[in-house]
Amino acid sequence: MALAPSAPSLRLQIIASLGTLLVLAFLPLFFAVAGLSRATALGVVNDEMAQRARTMAIAFDDARASPPGAAGGITVALADQARSPSVIAIAVTDKDTHALLAATPDLPDEWAEAYKDDRSAKSNRVALTDFTDEAGGTRLHVRFRPSDVEARVTPLLRLIALYIFLFGAVLLAFAYLALTRLIVRPIDELSREAERVASGARTFRSAARGPREIAELGVSVRTMADTLVASEKSLRAKVDELTEATKRLTETQAQLVKSERLAGVGKLAAGVAHEIGNPIAAILGMLDLVKDPDISEEDKRDLLSRTQRETERISGIVKDLLDFARPEKSADSSTSLRMAVSTVDRVVKDVLSLVSAQKSWKQIKVETDVTPALVVTLPEARLQQVLLNLLLNASHALADVTEPVIVLRAKREGSMAVLTVEDNGTGVPEHARPQIFEPFFTTKDVGEGTGLGLSVCRGLVEAVGGEIALDTSYTKGARFRITLPSSEL
Ligand code: ADP
Repeated sequence: MALAPSAPSLRLQIIASLGTLLVLAFLPLFFAVAGLSRATALGVVNDEMAQRARTMAIAFDDARASPPGAAGGITVALADQARSPSVIAIAVTDKDTHALLAATPDLPDEWAEAYKDDRSAKSNRVALTDFTDEAGGTRLHVRFRPSDVEARVTPLLRLIALYIFLFGAVLLAFAYLALTRLIVRPIDELSREAERVASGARTFRSAARGPREIAELGVSVRTMADTLVASEKSLRAKVDELTEATKRLTETQAQLVKSERLAGVGKLAAGVAHEIGNPIAAILGMLDLVKDPDISEEDKRDLLSRTQRETERISGIVKDLLDFARPEKSADSSTSLRMAVSTVDRVVKDVLSLVSAQKSWKQIKVETDVTPALVVTLPEARLQQVLLNLLLNASHALADVTEPVIVLRAKREGSMAVLTVEDNGTGVPEHARPQIFEPFFTTKDVGEGTGLGLSVCRGLVEAVGGEIALDTSYTKGARFRITLPSSEL
């Protein structure tokens, strides 16, 4: 899971938060209990001491009331009490006059001072641990040894601390287990499932368990995963559909190229038929003459060799036509198109020999200016098709021109080869210019044009990264400019 390395785990955070909470809750409680226990213990001790002081005061009063020479008396009682380990000092005064009746020898300094200087005023200035009590006519001041309150309270506090610690630990463990079971585990499970779906699984297995919010989260994640899977499925279907459509499009395009090629053959064939018709008629005539028994051997040979030449001419025309009409061997993909190259001057020669067989071309003056050995990245058959189409269009536009001229140029410009085909014909009308490269756009009569020629040319040229356009700056007719990637032979 893509967790930031610094982020502590949920479990650790739960323990830390609970621990802090427990410390914040129990520490003040402990101190409050400790303070209370100390105060209570002190109170108990004080009560005990006060009780003792009272008992002593009664004893001293009794001793004072007994006849003066009686055994014991106040001095004996004082000595008795002074022997007690918990007593530091005792002073017995008269209730009203504060006359010191008896006292332990090591009377605390401040007491001695008080009794010496101004007993009535200062007799009550006793320390905190001192107790003063009265019984009858006697007032007793006694200082007890400070009782060890801490010694009494510490075991109790230890017990409380232990209890709080154990209780806190149990609470922490319980809360940790409960939260782990209720929150951490279901979240862990959800995140594992989400990760599984992210890494390619197509089913979300986790049941919507745990508290309501987490169960709802599980349901949401499952819905999200299902939606994802569904969108992926429909996307895949669309991709398949698109692939299929592209395949069909490629096939159609190939079909289109082929159809346009055959249309070209048709156009050529119409002209060629006439060209072939004449030599055939001549051959037939010559064959008739050869059959004549009176003909000399020399004339016979001459007639036969002329017959052979005419037949070869016909055969050449038919061969050119067949070559052009034959489907290409190269594959349709533009990758293989890019790899095939053609030499422009050779293709130009082939195409011109193909068209010159037509009668209509007899009047057309064809000029060429082709850089020798110029190579372009387009298969020969395709370059032939493009040029043939441009030449046939040009010848059509030249039908009514008195001095028809076609100029075919090819030269290298940087890494590209630029080919132009221009004629001094009618030119492309202004309104038709934006449309001439669109499929099925034609200004020709039905049966004369398919409207596919230029669009097929553009498809062939652009497939190898080239361009074809009408040069609108040329005004004496039409000029088409083709740019093709060029390469060295
Ligand atoms: P088609 O020749 O079957 O009509 P094209 O796509 O080859 O189809 O040509 C489309 C149109 O472009 C032609 O009908 C014509 O109007 C125009 N065109 C093409 N070449 C020329 C040209 N050299 N001179 C004048 N118009 C042309």
